Amino acid sequence: MFNKRIKIKALLAAENTGVDATVMGWVRTFRNNQFIALNDGSTNHNLQVVASLGEFDDTILKRLTTGACIKVTGQVIASLGKGQKVELKASTIEILGDSDAEKFPLQPKKHSLEFLREIAHMRFRTNTFGAIFRIRHSLAFAVHQFFNDRGFVYLHTPIITASDAEGAGEMFRVTTLPMDGSAPKNEDGSINYKDDFFGRSTNLTVSGQLEGELAAMAFSDIYTFGPTFRAENSNTTRHLAEFWMIEPEVAFNDLEDNMDLAEAFIKYVIQYAMEQNKEDLEFLAQRLEEEEKQKPLTERSEMGLLDKLNFVVNNDFERLTYTEAIEILKESNYNKKKKFQYLIEGWGVDLQSEHERYLVEKHFKKPVILTNYPKDIKSFYMRLNEDGKTVAAMDILAPGIGEIVGGSQREERLDKLTARMAEMHIPAEELNWYLDTRRFGSCPHAGFGLGFERLVQFVTGMGNIRDVIPFPRFPKSAEF
Ligand code: ATP
Ligand code: MN
Repeated sequence: MFNKRIKIKALLAAENTGVDATVMGWVRTFRNNQFIALNDGSTNHNLQVVASLGEFDDTILKRLTTGACIKVTGQVIASLGKGQKVELKASTIEILGDSDAEKFPLQPKKHSLEFLREIAHMRFRTNTFGAIFRIRHSLAFAVHQFFNDRGFVYLHTPIITASDAEGAGEMFRVTTLPMDGSAPKNEDGSINYKDDFFGRSTNLTVSGQLEGELAAMAFSDIYTFGPTFRAENSNTTRHLAEFWMIEPEVAFNDLEDNMDLAEAFIKYVIQYAMEQNKEDLEFLAQRLEEEEKQKPLTERSEMGLLDKLNFVVNNDFERLTYTEAIEILKESNYNKKKKFQYLIEGWGVDLQSEHERYLVEKHFKKPVILTNYPKDIKSFYMRLNEDGKTVAAMDILAPGIGEIVGGSQREERLDKLTARMAEMHIPAEELNWYLDTRRFGSCPHAGFGLGFERLVQFVTGMGNIRDVIPFPRFPKSAEF
């Protein structure tokens, strides 16, 4: 069988020398015409393969270039070099795929993240991106593990939707109508979508929440984990046009249950990655430490990556209301000395990312859950509080990231919900299906949305969200 091989991770972990083994992978470096550093993606550690002098044809040796794919059979022997216990003494080397050393874009040296983003199809073969995407995998697996262990049903919500309840303008339109001006028009000149593929105007989903709520009214506990799309023109280090979102929705949960669930969930998946991806996290921690050294002292973070993750897992998140947060911000030195771009003058304003980061990074120095926001800056489906002016919303803010979770207890009372929709000019007839949950067996329920890439950013310590998704989509960029 061609594929009878041992993965390098397993080989490096095994202690039994003297046995024969076959490995396959990509050459990272070849030094002294003798030592091949081989990587197959199962771990960041390379296997040292020794091609003893005089035992291999020059024609083969010449083809052992960085990037080439090879198959090696040999004997596992104790390694004399430091850094690894075992190495492989090659008896046969087969070239599976040549790689022209002159043209291969990844030279064995440090490349900038910006350069690697331009060759995203190749960057998997670097230590940094190897570590990031193995951790991304573990986190995704942990998401399912967490909810499965708690009896949640994984719900696949539609990617193409007709509802534009979340506020249009941010959506990607889905259509098969011609773009050359010949699309059918209404009398007023607007496009007549009756002739479009779905017989109506459709978009890519921005959230699976509304559909998730329908299923929660039957299964009690559901979650979604799928791609979402936002055509917002935000060129930031925390926004993508295509990102993955995890959205649990739970019947009979109130706002406090919702916060407890979100906090337990975040701690669980971080803990899981710390157990499964120890070496990769250590590698990224090291990387980050070096990056930090380039910064002026005052801007360096006080904790290393692993300390930060441990801290989050072992400490309660700070919980406070929006009103309390506004007081803290208003009285802060940053506000008084006009260090905020947007000064906090009073109650009711939306918090900017600079305010969120102040609370998390300067004031509390830990993740923060803000609750009970003014209703006017939040969505129509959030439950109105007794005071008539705030809603049972919660945002979780993480150090270095800002908002990582947005959630709420949902408005389960039909009259209150339709009144709110009318206030916000949301056409009730388009959301009849959603309102049916409130007509037939409504109940208190709550849920949240967590941006998966922001979570991966937090765990890997990567500064730019474009580096934690394999092929990032953002304004003016959809390559690969
Ligand atoms: P922000 O204020 O950061 O733009 P939001 O209020 O638009 O976030 P929600 O609509 O509540 O975010 O979405 C839920 C979660 O999805 C957010 O907490 C965040 O983690 C993530 N998220 C939102 N927009 C993006 C995006 N463009 N790219 C990546 N993740 C996102
Ligand atoms: Mn947004």
